[in-house]
Amino acid sequence: MGTGPRVSALEHILKRMIRAEGPMSLATYMATCLTHPDHGYYTTRDPLGVAGDFTTAPEISQMFGELIGLSLAQHWLDHGAPDPFILAELGPGRGTLMADALRATRAVPGFLSVAQIHLVEVSPTLRATQAATLTGHSPIWHDTLANLPEAPLYLIANEYFDALPVRQFRRDANGWRETMVGLDGDTLTLGAAPPAPLAALDYRLEDTHPGDTVELNAPAAAEAHAIAQRIVTHGGAALVIDYGDWRALGDTVQAMRNHEAVDILNAPGASDLTAHVDFEPLAHAATDAGARHSRLTPQGVYLERLGITQRAQALARPLRAPALDSHIAAHRRLTHPAEMGTLFKCLSLHHPAAAPPPGLEP
Ligand code: SAH
Repeated sequence: MGTGPRVSALEHILKRMIRAEGPMSLATYMATCLTHPDHGYYTTRDPLGVAGDFTTAPEISQMFGELIGLSLAQHWLDHGAPDPFILAELGPGRGTLMADALRATRAVPGFLSVAQIHLVEVSPTLRATQAATLTGHSPIWHDTLANLPEAPLYLIANEYFDALPVRQFRRDANGWRETMVGLDGDTLTLGAAPPAPLAALDYRLEDTHPGDTVELNAPAAAEAHAIAQRIVTHGGAALVIDYGDWRALGDTVQAMRNHEAVDILNAPGASDLTAHVDFEPLAHAATDAGARHSRLTPQGVYLERLGITQRAQALARPLRAPALDSHIAAHRRLTHPAEMGTLFKCLSLHHPAAAPPPGLEP
């Protein structure tokens, strides 16, 4: 996987774009590498799991999707059980989280009979996997969340926003210098555009110094705004879970192949490219749209509040080694501060008249 004609085709396309139009932003590079319709990383493969390039929380343990599903179902009950409503996921990967959420919420009266499952997924390969995982639930797929029907919206986005393309800027004495992907002879190379002011980054002048790097994810903020608008109009909530921070600082763009970090310019289209999520602009986009957001909460704390330890104990009862050992390791991996517990965080976007979903604080 990851080598051969596909890769060189994409590299060829990128170089042709740069020769025709000059150096491209990191955002254009990322978007082309990840979602090019013929040669993009996500378009052409299932990148998840041991045999792939990276592993995500729902692939580590069923407990993750179960608890998130139950949290959204409780929020739905607390708000009068709207009928019908949309249970949506952005970037559902293999469909594992949604399948675990649907199984866990079978016990919630009415929830599944009125839920319409909608998935926003760019990858034909992963859509096929999701269809197989979610047999019997008749999900409806969309290319973008703009196409979701207008209805109360209960939405999950786990490790989705980190895949959206960021622009990157380094502050110097005379403004912001954007990181650009250009060519040195026939080799892709990183450079910096001349310094310029940028209104969207004015607010970062207060917490940065010359030499600091910041990233701007315009599509992420636009999507958070659109989600929040729907929630304000129709009710509901969104759970955004990802690695990142509040007002993130520094170069966080990374490439992963076979579970190892690689150079972001090496073999474009053959590795996963992500950036840490800066949750502050997502939260502000939501409040601009009239919604509220929760406190940004570490994943470990969030899952503990939802009862992951009790669930882990219940699942452990019939298990013996080695299944028991891997179950204990999975619990630890999801929650421990040295693993995913602190780096990953959860933010809810919710209706202004509502409290955040269970496990989160206003
Ligand atoms: N949420 C899953 C998968 C995370 S990987 C999990 O936790 O396991 C990122 C997912 O987002 C993949 O399904 C990928 O195909 C999808 N994706 C990436 N960029 C996208 C885009 N621009 N639009 C829609 N889906 C996208």
